[in-house]
Amino acid sequence: MSVAPLPHVIPTLSQGAAGLQLEQVALSDIAAQFGSPTYVYSRAALTAAWHNWVSALEGRNALVCYAVKANSNLAVLNVFARLGAGFDIVSGGELARVLAAGGRADRVVFSGVGKSRAEMAQALRAGIHCFNLESAPELDRLEAVAAELGLQAAIAFRVNPAVDPKTHPYISTGLRDNKFGVAFEDALALYRKAAASKHLRISGIACHIGSQLLDPAPMAEAAAKVRGLVEQLEREGIHLDHIDLGGGLGIRYSDEVPPTGRDYLAPLLAAMAGRPEQLCFEPGRSLVGNAGLLLTRVEFLKPGATKNFAIVDAAMNDLARPALYDAYHEMLAVQPRDTPPVSYEIVGPICESGDFLGHERALSLAEGDLIAILSAGAYGMTMSSNYNTRGRCAEVMVDGDQLHLIRPRESIDSLFATERVLP
Ligand SMILES: *Cc1c(COP(=O)(O)O)cnc(C)c1O
Repeated sequence: MSVAPLPHVIPTLSQGAAGLQLEQVALSDIAAQFGSPTYVYSRAALTAAWHNWVSALEGRNALVCYAVKANSNLAVLNVFARLGAGFDIVSGGELARVLAAGGRADRVVFSGVGKSRAEMAQALRAGIHCFNLESAPELDRLEAVAAELGLQAAIAFRVNPAVDPKTHPYISTGLRDNKFGVAFEDALALYRKAAASKHLRISGIACHIGSQLLDPAPMAEAAAKVRGLVEQLEREGIHLDHIDLGGGLGIRYSDEVPPTGRDYLAPLLAAMAGRPEQLCFEPGRSLVGNAGLLLTRVEFLKPGATKNFAIVDAAMNDLARPALYDAYHEMLAVQPRDTPPVSYEIVGPICESGDFLGHERALSLAEGDLIAILSAGAYGMTMSSNYNTRGRCAEVMVDGDQLHLIRPRESIDSLFATERVLP
């Protein structure tokens, strides 16, 4: 039987004797052992994605902080911690995960527009590298919390360069009228204010314009603007230790051709040529997206008048991106069949018409077959929920011929174990 070549999406996925395999482990074995739906990650793919970033930064004083919200499983964080990563967090919960996974607090940057007092105190006590501040009241709050604790907070302002990243509106963050960052015009006054406080130490400047960027040009434009601001600060006697150029590098889901780490970083490094500050980056999706897939099983095939449905055991609660952003994820039958492919709507069991995972997918399927939903390593498990009282997926990591359960499937009992009926 002839098998179509695999789309070049997940580098460690291949066709083996028992159907699709990730590294040396057959996906059908994973389903047999741990059931479905299950998220499956490849350690080798995580490591390759890491090297794609750091090899492009060789010789430059740089810190790559993995954006934890893309995939926060402790095993994933631990793989990056062992590789020397820093971490970009957006909550106290993520900080706790990083520390539990062996990450270093002094390599953590804390992003996000709504940090609570408790989160600030937690991060100050842990001794994180830097708070990326996004507003004037946040500066006041952090100063007060640091003063109460008798500590000094290292800070950067996340500036909003007002460039259009040309990506999906829900994942654009650097436009003038969205909630992120401080306006360029306001940054100087905020730095002056911070410089006057003994509980704050100015450490850097940060910028992140959006996600799934397929062209480095908007970020290079932002970097040039940031450099201008850094030089203006310098003239005022305000010196920075680091410049954080955010994350956002896109990945291939279907036929996109994202730049390599080297091609993405070259114009950013050029924009910062000669600057002595450490360069920080906050990649999320590009480190984990194509190191993972979601393994699901066909429950029913339901032919219709105009559409054929393949009802699978994964749903929008497990992988929200299609319902949320109309995102495309490549799908492959784990064990190819000889029957001609049929066009299916791939849908989950949830009671919502928005509960789809893919439209018009030509696949040769029978009831009980397994499907691999590719590029699901980023914003997959971390955006999952218990909607419809569905336990969240198991997660496993493949490492060569080894298979590790890194989070068991949630049991039904656990979903309401802490709920109480009225007396
Ligand atoms: C989400 C986020 C990132 C990571 O973005 P990716 O597109 O996944 O690389 C980095 N920095 C900040 C501030 C973020 O909010």
